[in-house]
Amino acid sequence: MVSPWAMTTATSTPTPLGFLGLGLMGSRMAKNLAAKGFAVRGWNRSAKRAQGLGLTLAATPAELGAYADVLVTCVADPAALAEVAQGPQGFLATAKKGALWIDCSTIGPDDARAFEAAAKAKGLDFVEAPVTGSKNGAEKGTLVLMVGASDQAFARASKVFAAVGEKAIHVGPVGAGSQVKLAGNVLIAAMLQAFSEGLLLTRKAGASPEKLIEVIQSSGFRSPYFDFKGKAMLARDFDQHFSVDLMHKDLGLFLDSAAKHKVPTPAAASLREIYNLARSAGKGQLDISGVITAFEDLCGTRL
Ligand code: NAP
Repeated sequence: MVSPWAMTTATSTPTPLGFLGLGLMGSRMAKNLAAKGFAVRGWNRSAKRAQGLGLTLAATPAELGAYADVLVTCVADPAALAEVAQGPQGFLATAKKGALWIDCSTIGPDDARAFEAAAKAKGLDFVEAPVTGSKNGAEKGTLVLMVGASDQAFARASKVFAAVGEKAIHVGPVGAGSQVKLAGNVLIAAMLQAFSEGLLLTRKAGASPEKLIEVIQSSGFRSPYFDFKGKAMLARDFDQHFSVDLMHKDLGLFLDSAAKHKVPTPAAASLREIYNLARSAGKGQLDISGVITAFEDLCGTRL
């Protein structure tokens, strides 16, 4: 049995932490946790991707369940999370009573509540902590976490939050973190789409996209996001920070929640179709800034 305050009490032995999902985000978060003194062991579905990270690797999620006082998950979607937690080799079957499970994947609010119930049934504390800040923020340990948890579980997880992020906002009980995260991603998709359409039309009409960016960034609607993505798009660098496939998943989760609550969300619905279009054109594994290339193909102009 793990003490519920294991990480908030000064202790000489490092906390055993299992990290499941060593993708773009998870690999960087796990390295920061190891650097901050947690005894991290990792697991990834594709073992090859996890090699070279400098982490001790487990053969199965179940092996990490038996090892860890704290389990952190960061996988693609709800189905992937169900697989690592509750699948034939899932960690819930072997997890220690009293362990803490922090999920940093982006999933739906109802998914989060269902995982919380499954964790409770096994005697684990569950915290949902989706993140924002992309792979650069994961690398630098400057993520922002949107946490849904009880006050006690939030306090318990605080050292993990501090190791991977610069701010953890306790937004409410489990479910509230996902709700806020999904709304934030709709905003990103909307900003990026309007930006892309403006850049492409500016170019095709013979004006300067560079000047458009200069004007945007000198105005009241400036955002660091437009510098970050604008530079990459002009350099035609569509290397993945956050994939088109994952944004499509998040727009779908947002729309599921909107349908459940009978809230009309026409902008999000059309954004999901835009991401569907990009996926159908084979752009699913590009960064989200690469959606513009699907529109370049349609209008016969390069940015
Ligand atoms: P990623 O690089 O594609 O990594 C996805 C991870 O999920 C990989 O470890 C992958 O394993 C694993 N996975 C997928 N399907 C699985 C399954 N059926 N069983 C077990 N593992 C499975 O994605 P990411 O960018 O790190 O994103 C991870 C999570 O963070 C997602 O929920 C995403 O929405 C969220 N997020 C991402 C960003 C970002 O900017 N990238 C920002 C905020 C939140 P394999 O390596 O074997 O494929």
